[in-house]
Amino acid sequence: MTELNRRALLSGAVAASAATALAPLAHSPALAAMPLAGAQAPGWYRYKLGDYEITAVTDGRSTFKLPDTFVVNVKKDEVNAALLAAHMEKDMMTIPYTPVVINTGAKLIVMDTGTGEANFTRSKGTGGQFHANLKAAGIDRNAVDLVIISHFHGDHINGLITPDGKPSFPNAEILVPAVEMKYFMDDGEMSRQTTDRMKGVFAGARKVFDALHRKVTPYEAGKEVAPGITSVATHGHTPGHMSYVVASGGKTVFVQADVTNHPALFARNPGWHAFFDQDANMAEATRRKVYDMLAADKMMVQGFHYPFPSVAYVEKAGSGYREIPVAWNPTL
Ligand SMILES: [Zn+2]
Repeated sequence: MTELNRRALLSGAVAASAATALAPLAHSPALAAMPLAGAQAPGWYRYKLGDYEITAVTDGRSTFKLPDTFVVNVKKDEVNAALLAAHMEKDMMTIPYTPVVINTGAKLIVMDTGTGEANFTRSKGTGGQFHANLKAAGIDRNAVDLVIISHFHGDHINGLITPDGKPSFPNAEILVPAVEMKYFMDDGEMSRQTTDRMKGVFAGARKVFDALHRKVTPYEAGKEVAPGITSVATHGHTPGHMSYVVASGGKTVFVQADVTNHPALFARNPGWHAFFDQDANMAEATRRKVYDMLAADKMMVQGFHYPFPSVAYVEKAGSGYREIPVAWNPTL
């Protein structure tokens, strides 16, 4: 009997001997003439929360060379070790984007909007998929009543407008965090920015909201912004960053937006500071508070930058947390 080990598998010895042992002698092997598909299936995943239907809709992902200062307060070697521990590629970073759609039965609500359709071409199809996947999920953008924005980074707001600068959701009211709106539309705040990145965040936010003639509805923390959807102040990542508790029929999910970026790095290591956390100490305090709550209350979390479909439970592990993805449910 062939020993089952890596060398034997790679040499094909197992396959060859297994084929000899198992192949029925009377039949010739299949010719495998079907052409390769070369494309992924549309990316959306639906689940029930009480009376609500939630659809996680992928916008795709971004993959880039790991910057030396991606995590500002630890060495790159440690980041690479965490990537390898999660079976991710060393020296590369992949960040998924997952907006969600909530159908309450009476209202159709989009939460965050992805990197925008223009990014589909720019990224050669790896990002900017949200609107195409929305359509594939049978959701008509014209039927959306409400869009709720968590914060003003491009991967969350760019999908609000089409490539030619028109509203992507022409019949929807757009809800934005009041603090975020005030901060990013303040000319004084913009003039005090010193880094290219922050100047870019201001310019990007203004491009989107100017295209919408700044016709948005600001909302505060701790308010029921839509039926069963309560805003929670989770500031730090940006000054007005918001998350939400969505509740229906005694069930809840915490829609965290960017309390953590990729969980393999920042749930496992809540003390790590991603370079795009604007106030890193506040972001860390927020992250620890939220994740302690998620673990203690066994509350499901929908994480914008979690691997698709980005819905999980969280438990304490070592000095951080680990996420346990929710299993695919073949029915609703
Ligand atoms: Zn983000």
